[in-house]
Amino acid sequence: MSTETFEFQVEARQLLQLMIHSVYSNKDVFLRELVSNASDALDKLRLEKLWDDSLDADVSDPHIEIDVDNDARTLTVRDNGIGMTYDEVGRLIGTIANSGTAQFLQELREAKDAAGEEGLIGQFGVGFYSGFMVADEVTLLTRRAGESQGTRWTSRGEGTYTLERVDDAPQGTSVVLHLKPADPENQLHDYTSPWKIREIVKRYSDFITWPIRMVPGTPAPAGESDESDEAPQPETLNSMKALWARPRDEVSDDEYHELYKHIAHDWRDPLETVRLQAEGTFEYQALLFLPAHAPHDLFTRDSKRGVQLYVKRVFIMDDCEALLPPYLRFVKGVVDAADLSLNVSREILQQDRHIEMMRRRLTKKVLSTVKEMMAKDQERYATFWREFGTVLKEGLITDSENRDALLTVASFASTHDDSEPTTLKQYVERMKEGQEDIYYLTGESRQSIENSPHMEAFRERGIEVLLLTDAVDEVWADAVGEYEGKTLRSVAKGRIDLDAKDEDTSDDEREKQTEEYAGLLGWMKEQLDEDIKEVRLSSRLTVSPACVVSDAHDLTPALENMYRSMGQEVPRAKRILELNPDHQLVKGLNEAYQEREDRTELAETAELLHGLAVLAEGGQPKEPARFVKLMADRLERAL
Ligand code: ADP
Repeated sequence: MSTETFEFQVEARQLLQLMIHSVYSNKDVFLRELVSNASDALDKLRLEKLWDDSLDADVSDPHIEIDVDNDARTLTVRDNGIGMTYDEVGRLIGTIANSGTAQFLQELREAKDAAGEEGLIGQFGVGFYSGFMVADEVTLLTRRAGESQGTRWTSRGEGTYTLERVDDAPQGTSVVLHLKPADPENQLHDYTSPWKIREIVKRYSDFITWPIRMVPGTPAPAGESDESDEAPQPETLNSMKALWARPRDEVSDDEYHELYKHIAHDWRDPLETVRLQAEGTFEYQALLFLPAHAPHDLFTRDSKRGVQLYVKRVFIMDDCEALLPPYLRFVKGVVDAADLSLNVSREILQQDRHIEMMRRRLTKKVLSTVKEMMAKDQERYATFWREFGTVLKEGLITDSENRDALLTVASFASTHDDSEPTTLKQYVERMKEGQEDIYYLTGESRQSIENSPHMEAFRERGIEVLLLTDAVDEVWADAVGEYEGKTLRSVAKGRIDLDAKDEDTSDDEREKQTEEYAGLLGWMKEQLDEDIKEVRLSSRLTVSPACVVSDAHDLTPALENMYRSMGQEVPRAKRILELNPDHQLVKGLNEAYQEREDRTELAETAELLHGLAVLAEGGQPKEPARFVKLMADRLERAL
């Protein structure tokens, strides 16, 4: 049969180069990756046979085999699972489809030093390609269950691979690693040693639910008097015990972490392990993990959930979305239910009353774990919130049942401290005498919020403001409305009257000011009528001449934009222009208004003032070119 040669996709080539020249010290993990793939392939075969009994596949003895040939210096990992078709091999093994990996490569290009590189490799699952850390040539022979013809894939990892159709391939996949020459300096990396294989499997893959057998190969090298003379039997290396079914105190943290890595395709340890055992009419066990890092696709539409469903130790499905709400989609793990049918489908799960109860219980358990983490280990909690806080905030909008729990574990940047976020509880404890509301301001970045004119009076009076920079912040703050009886108030919305409780400014003085400015305010409103529904005096400004604010119940421009980007038609809400009566520009404008008959020039000033207010909050004047021209004319005259 003919052999065809193909080029690796660019990203795949980069990843391979990295593996070949890898400085990553923990090369042992290549075996974990191959065993993990083999185990997935056996799961897939079992499920496919379950759904389609007519599938012509051998499911009599599903297992994984590891086979070492000392003379040829090869190590083979073989499974009799689902296998791959010719097309699948090209697609799955020749390219990198995972967007996270593309991102990883990007970061790698930026991390120029070896130490940074090693750290990065340790963070990403590179799967099958990790074989090239220890082998200079890899051959993969595979036959898809139900098909008659197989495929051989071969590569030295250097830019190209070959594909060839094969007639006599056994069902499933075998990966043959042609090991790099032995390093006499470093016996630790001798992967022809049965002892070494045993150790790696035990450490990384003990919980795999299929038997992992080692086939005795050529006699062990001198010094390793392994099996004796009699005919050698395959040896099962793993205990196959499900970790969640074993007594808690029998399982080490390391074992939990290896299971996490298998499920999450992550090379790093999880941040937290959560165990839950439910007895009674609907029995189940759950073993969940909070990862230490957010995946790159957390906010894309097709982002996967990481909870696997088992029924009595038998794998049923990946990404079981019915088990946790969408805002906990980053949680990985296993749920093993005793009383579900092996044939259960996603549709049935979505409507099942027991599953619904389970989801509620698991959700509460995850949130209480975060709360404990907050009390026990500040640093760990901070990592968690930095990585997943944005996603959890979605729950404030969608999950009213757990709103209080979410508000308890949430933390936010605040004017109180430049680097440490604050909880709402801490904010309330610091509230000033007479302060009734919790103030916040939303915006693009901490810096743009802090420099916004809306903040001026708050800064001057030392009133703390939460600085919210996630897109979801405006929405939840609006939806939640209050915390422990204290209203959540945007400093850019509605009337802010900090002076009401201030002794300095008397009511009389305000009334006088309002009278003085009444004419100007009414006239300006007419001038700016298209964009502004009211012009009024401000009590939030100390430095800037003007700012724009939204009415308490109107959508802000950011929210309007968000709805529009989601394809919803929303009317543009007119805003309110507030003037600072103590600012020289505003004072001068008022005098000129009262003195002059011809107000053409003043109308331009009004327009400029409005434009400046919009700019100051990070927006754009309606007609930027016109704004710039008016401004330039004024500057020219001022020379
Ligand atoms: P990952 O396992 O993270 O998806 P890999 O590079 O390890 O990435 O594998 C890519 C894909 O190739 C897998 O998702 C799977 O579809 C397929 N694959 C790899 N190994 C096997 C195998 N032993 N049997 C069947 N399919 C496999």
